[in-house]
Amino acid sequence: MKASARAVVIGGGVVGASVLYHLAKAGWSDVLLVEKSELTSGSTWHAAGGMHTFNGEANISRLQKYTIDLYREIEQLSGQSCGLHPNGGLMLAADQGELDSLRLICSRARYLGMQTEMISLERALEYNPLIDPSHFIGALWRADGGHCDPSGTTNAYAKAARQLGAQVERYTRVLELRPRREGSWDVVTDKGTVHAEHVVNCAGLWAREVGHMVGIELPVLAMEHHYLLTEDIPELRGRAREIVNTTDYSGEIYLRQERAGVLIGTYEPHGVVWSPRHTPDDFSMQLLAEDFERLAPYFEVGFRHFPALGRVGIRKAVNGPFTFAPDGNPLVGPVRGVRNYWVACAVMAGFSQGGGIGLVLSRWMTEGDPGQDILSMDVARFGAFATPKYTSVKVPENYSRRFRLTYPNEELPAARPLRRSPIYEQLKAKGAVMGANFALEHALWFAPPGTAAAETPTYRRSEAFPHVREECRAVRSAVGLYETTNYGKYEVTGRGARAWLDHVFASRIPRPGRLALAPMLNEAGRIVGDLSMACLDEDRFFIVGSGFAEEFHLRWFWAADPPADVRVRSAASTLTGVSVAGPRARELLQPLVRLDLSAAAFRLFSVAQTAVGFTPAILTRAGFTGELGYEIWTTPDYFATLYEELCEAGSGLGLRHFGARALSSLRLEKAYGSFNKDFRPDYTPGETGLDRFIDFGKAAFTGRDAALAERERGARRRFVVMEVADTEVDVIGYESIMKDGAAVGYVTSGAYGHCVDRSLAAGYVPAPLAREGERFEIDILGEMKSATVRLEPLYDPQGLRLRS
Ligand SMILES: Cc1cc2nc3c(=O)[nH]c(=O)nc-3n(C[C@H](O)[C@H](O)[C@H](O)COP(=O)(O)OP(=O)(O)OC[C@H]3O[C@@H](n4cnc5c(N)ncnc54)[C@H](O)[C@@H]3O)c2cc1C
Repeated sequence: MKASARAVVIGGGVVGASVLYHLAKAGWSDVLLVEKSELTSGSTWHAAGGMHTFNGEANISRLQKYTIDLYREIEQLSGQSCGLHPNGGLMLAADQGELDSLRLICSRARYLGMQTEMISLERALEYNPLIDPSHFIGALWRADGGHCDPSGTTNAYAKAARQLGAQVERYTRVLELRPRREGSWDVVTDKGTVHAEHVVNCAGLWAREVGHMVGIELPVLAMEHHYLLTEDIPELRGRAREIVNTTDYSGEIYLRQERAGVLIGTYEPHGVVWSPRHTPDDFSMQLLAEDFERLAPYFEVGFRHFPALGRVGIRKAVNGPFTFAPDGNPLVGPVRGVRNYWVACAVMAGFSQGGGIGLVLSRWMTEGDPGQDILSMDVARFGAFATPKYTSVKVPENYSRRFRLTYPNEELPAARPLRRSPIYEQLKAKGAVMGANFALEHALWFAPPGTAAAETPTYRRSEAFPHVREECRAVRSAVGLYETTNYGKYEVTGRGARAWLDHVFASRIPRPGRLALAPMLNEAGRIVGDLSMACLDEDRFFIVGSGFAEEFHLRWFWAADPPADVRVRSAASTLTGVSVAGPRARELLQPLVRLDLSAAAFRLFSVAQTAVGFTPAILTRAGFTGELGYEIWTTPDYFATLYEELCEAGSGLGLRHFGARALSSLRLEKAYGSFNKDFRPDYTPGETGLDRFIDFGKAAFTGRDAALAERERGARRRFVVMEVADTEVDVIGYESIMKDGAAVGYVTSGAYGHCVDRSLAAGYVPAPLAREGERFEIDILGEMKSATVRLEPLYDPQGLRLRS
């Protein structure tokens, strides 16, 4: 075995093999994969090999398409067949919700360039004659997908990688990872030690243990999974084509042809965790004991929905383990605090996702950036809250819902409430319907007295609609209160803080007493943060961003290597916050503070350390509603007192609590974009409009060259808000934006604008078309709706109320 390598990939399943291939393809030929047994000997060898492009996140869908298209390339390069059956996919809906979901997939697929079509059940039967159509009401067909041979595919990756200079050492077990002072690793194996600049954890079923080698607890857990192979099915005899891979949402069944029979699998509601604490070292190409008794009721649904299956015998049953993260998406990327250690694990759909993961991770390692937004599979989407217990509860929940739709207004119940603010119970008592963001409970909307604090999951307007409307109107006409504790919060202090921030952020760094909107770019000039920065003192800054991105931003700050005289700290659990907004916000707050809050004395974007009633607090004049607004931050021990005093002060002023749904509506009326929805690492300052907050006069900041180049060149596309005509349904996200029959962009967020009485959709359109009154069409749940660009915010375009 070689003594050193640029990178050592640990694990020779389909994911490790793909990472190896992509690293070699990116030019790192000095890479080594070590596998403790044979290639494929974790979960890969017994997989069903199904592949598809479906994912709730557009970028993951795109990477899945890349994966499927890649197989021809590696076949050619390696001479090894992937055993491809590119026969497409069929998804069956049994009720209105499922049908809406298929229509949304169809709308999204247009912009992604995927061939997808809603088809009649008659046509579905042509693709798969085993379906009993009486159980279904609609179907979607997609050209991409099918199945492949798991072992052939993994070996094709490995052989193609070898062609490019990479090496593979089988029967070599990594025992220990020892960091060297300068950031490289000694990879200790049972066959000797390799010195590596980088290591990649692709250890699949053992990813948790390879995490422990560097002292981290990855949120990953394996579940048992069964599929059956039937004997030959007479109905399939003589068919020219294989049946199309079929997903039956209501039956929670997937099936595909296997020779002259069928492979049928189920994701049962009461799944069984495999090896909850430690994956056995000696587990290799083994199957687990079958448990038909437990699974019979679920397969029986399959036999009812596809009756021919019930008429033939079972040839073989497979029960094998594979791993999941709490939300079912992979864990990819670098880990904060552990230099040159990368993960690509918890991949539950290795044959749909393995190629895309290899692509983005190899770019990240070789170029310093994944090259596109992959927040939804970034390991940093989980923070300290993702403890082993959290994972042990969320993974089975996710497994049980693999083929159950999660509606856009649905919040999953497992491991909740976990993180609670000090006013959690008070908000619940006010009728708050809660969601969880980074495991922190926060109010989505408030059910007025006498109404149920619950919501029916739907793709359409729910019973929350009229209550959210009242919340919005109260903010615009009187004053509203919104808890901001779930924002990401950071403190940056020290003598070198200003200079360091000046380099990390693209914006001007505010002077003491002022606050600035502060975009952060990567080297490629793409948006990695849209934060606000308050300067409390010359050497003390308080930064606020998206709550879900806390770990992502902390990792970004860590990677920017703060010098010894700069201290960066998360204030996630040490600061709680509340916003009061509306024309009467000043009236509410002034009696509680000694500071003069008049427009002249405490202008927009002012910040002060003061007392609000009994509470020592940081007070800023800022907000996200477009109204006169203040944010108040204090430590958790004062928070309930602060909240009670604010409520009391607002009682005669029409104070109303509002939640995240109302905030979405209010911000879109003002055309404010939101990080992770509208602003992501896919977009640039010119495209998002955040260029107006960039200080181009600064000599140096991350992303400056790319941002300047874009300024010279002009943005290719632009973020716009459109009003959608004549619709009873609001957009959800990722619907295609159409112009003259072609998809030219997709929706990034939307809401009903309750105070402008219009349905609003935000998204990116080609720059020349980003002009007032330009018309597009948006496919909303199967119906084309006219959408008109409004370049000015629909509400208070001059920002007079904000500055009042
Ligand atoms: C029954 C079943 C059906 C499935 N069907 C499908 C399907 O239809 N489509 C689909 O896309 N996916 C399917 N999957 C999931 C798929 O198998 C996984 O997504 C995929 O195999 C994950 O690959 P991996 O490389 O991440 O992990 P693994 O295959 O587990 O590979 C990890 C490798 O790391 C090695 N390793 C671990 N620790 C060390 C160490 N210390 N030193 C050296 N080597 C080490 C292991 O030996 C192993 O070979 C199915 C899974 C099961 C169980």
